[in-house]
Amino acid sequence: MRRFFIENIDPQEELCTLTGQEARHIYKVLRMEPGDPLILLDRQGRHYQARIDAISRQQVQVKLEKPLPVLTASPLDLTICQAVLKPRAMDLLIEKISELGVTRLLPFISSRTVLRPDAAQAKAKMRHWQAVAQSAAKQSERAAPLSIEPIRGFEEILNQLQTETGCKLILWEEEEFIDLKSLLKASAAQSHFIGMIGPEGGFNQNEVQLAGAAGFVSVSLGRRILRAETAGITLSALMQYEWGDLGL
Ligand code: SAH
Repeated sequence: MRRFFIENIDPQEELCTLTGQEARHIYKVLRMEPGDPLILLDRQGRHYQARIDAISRQQVQVKLEKPLPVLTASPLDLTICQAVLKPRAMDLLIEKISELGVTRLLPFISSRTVLRPDAAQAKAKMRHWQAVAQSAAKQSERAAPLSIEPIRGFEEILNQLQTETGCKLILWEEEEFIDLKSLLKASAAQSHFIGMIGPEGGFNQNEVQLAGAAGFVSVSLGRRILRAETAGITLSALMQYEWGDLGL
């Protein structure tokens, strides 16, 4: 059955109103009609069997029929910071990390980032990325879709993350001493993880140093150089396996 997201389902109310993109999708793209069944999810993991009650201009009214088991999020709060990549690579990354239950994506521009969208392009990209994340979330029954923050500069991102606690790693293909496996073996499990991945051309040494000053440990994934999107997807899967919910 089709799944749709809403900010908040009020279990006391029988009716719920969908607006915006989800509503347009229902009446314009899918051409659904009153009486059609659907599943409604909210950001708190509430999950209801529901039915369309009425469709009017720009909104769809839905009747809640039956609560379904609450979806639980991963015990690991996982943030991925990714330098903006070419469109296909970025879409692949967003789709896959969304399926893998990553909580938050912080896209950034660093010195070797090839694509530098202007404000209008950045806005269009955000809309597109959010749609990719939303559709991946539905398919993988996530409690809440991946949240994507606006594109910012590398140093701005570091400033924001400086005060955040948890395990913070920057993947650097030139790191010669610490690899992810030995670092994880030496660390106790944590509930917050932040991983940073560079653009197609990688990070320069200065950036790795700046990240270090903001509390990021530089780690290698081994001698094989992965594409940035492969590195981000791999890191997300490994972290969900080690500290998160890739398992029953
Ligand atoms: N500078 C490289 C490739 C960069 S790979 C070149 O052009 O030859 C893109 C990003 O993926 C890197 O910035 C890093 O964050 C991550 N990455 C890829 N392979 C990695 C590895 N073996 N170890 C650590 N990080 C890796």
